[in-house]
Amino acid sequence: MKRTRAFIFILFILFTGFLESGQRPKLVIFISIDQMKAEYLDWYKAEFTGGFKRILAEGTQFTNADLNYAPSETGPGHAALGTGSYPMHSGITSNDWIDRKTLKQVYCVEDSTAERAEAEGGGVSSKNLMVPALGDWLKRVSPSSKVFSASIKDRAAILMAGQRPDCAFWYDRKLGHMVTSEFYVKEVPAWVKAFNGSNWIAHHLPATWTKAMPESVYAKYGPDDLVGEMKWGGSTAFPHAFQVEKRNEQIVCSPFGDAMILDFALESVKFEKLGQRDVPDLLLISLSCTDYIGHAFGGNSHEMVDQMIRLDRALGDFLANVEKLVGPGNVLLALSADHAGMPLPEYRRTVQHKDARRILTTTEINPRIEALDVALQHEFRTTEHVIQSQAFLNYPAGAAAGIDSTSLERRVKEGLMKIDGITDVYFRRELTHGTSQPHPFLGYYERGYYPPRGNDFIIRPCEYCLLTTSPTGTSHGTPYRYDTHVPILFWGIGVKAQQVTRVVHTVDIAPTIAKVLGINAPNTIDGKSLKEIVK
Ligand SMILES: [Zn+2]
Repeated sequence: MKRTRAFIFILFILFTGFLESGQRPKLVIFISIDQMKAEYLDWYKAEFTGGFKRILAEGTQFTNADLNYAPSETGPGHAALGTGSYPMHSGITSNDWIDRKTLKQVYCVEDSTAERAEAEGGGVSSKNLMVPALGDWLKRVSPSSKVFSASIKDRAAILMAGQRPDCAFWYDRKLGHMVTSEFYVKEVPAWVKAFNGSNWIAHHLPATWTKAMPESVYAKYGPDDLVGEMKWGGSTAFPHAFQVEKRNEQIVCSPFGDAMILDFALESVKFEKLGQRDVPDLLLISLSCTDYIGHAFGGNSHEMVDQMIRLDRALGDFLANVEKLVGPGNVLLALSADHAGMPLPEYRRTVQHKDARRILTTTEINPRIEALDVALQHEFRTTEHVIQSQAFLNYPAGAAAGIDSTSLERRVKEGLMKIDGITDVYFRRELTHGTSQPHPFLGYYERGYYPPRGNDFIIRPCEYCLLTTSPTGTSHGTPYRYDTHVPILFWGIGVKAQQVTRVVHTVDIAPTIAKVLGINAPNTIDGKSLKEIVK
């Protein structure tokens, strides 16, 4: 089976004059900024002086990029970026899915067989990723090319890098440094040990996160102190003090976590000689702090303004340092996001005077789904759950009561849609076989659905309704534009300064990079190479 698959795979990879042209980049850097909304590049443009300014001025900006699937989550998002395939093909349908047999939650990169590398960082690998990624396509035709990834989050580093990169590194919050698993390497490279030994946090993390610019820069975007934002040290407003005993954890929700990952990535360029050899290399970086800050404070907060200001500077320094090592004109950069995010409901209501709701699932949604389950149990005269784990339906219990599967689904849908906050319900049969009836967002959920890991039904919340367990912060996951509209930027060798307004998708990035490198992506992927970058 394995050999047949490998053979088919090789058939799909067609050489197209790999590395014949002098126009090929020596180093491709593919950056995902976790939860970055496309709008940030417009809203905060006036503050950019570094990397974003340079990329926007010299590169290609796709202003109408969308995920084109749901759920808009980190695992599926990084798999889509890396593989050029939707979750329906990558198999990474959400951060966690429920195993139908055991009803236990499965983390998207969990792998109990992946031992800790040198006693750190085990338990995760790319095992659940069903298709190869850009890094795998590259290494098939150029085995000496190196593929490395780095992120705060294990799932981001692992899924973007593909099935068999040279290594994926992520941040361990307990240890306060970078780790990997034996799935990748038995021995952690010396430069990684040196980086960890340098104790980056002790040397670079300030005692307090303060604003990088004068107050007037921030004030024009709204209030700093806002109900609905997370409290840090008793306040939702700056300054945010780091506590020594908690700073390894707190750093992820500050701009300094991204600075640390970019420093680590620069070390990989330096010590692995990425882009400084006779074959092209691929460096995948996922910067997670925009996500943690977005979740805690929202995309319009002073914290997000400061995050964008500091990330812009850090990216500018990183690009300049990479150019020093690799040589200007040898780098191709692609930048996008795994998903966007919903505005903080309280910001949208009190500052923008528009509708938005925070709906607590623990009190508003879950008890009502449980009540629906109990009502169906009574009706079907069964002691078994009819709705299991908010994911599966007990069709046999329905059948025993003379209710066929279509009628059961109709009853469940009617019941669920009476619950305030739930707008629509999608069932397995529609998600796998489609429907002749028009059904809004069905295509998004179909492309996000891989049947062996799929629920029997999926609910869609109402627009600008945050279904959450938390009294503060915001999130993402829906098919709505605020969750799916992300940036796509290209910069570097051969890339024109231009804005492109046509609709494109994050799955298009990997095949575009492949084409620039002169390798064809497997023809089974969902993305199409972007003609504005490569003809
Ligand atoms: Zn994410």
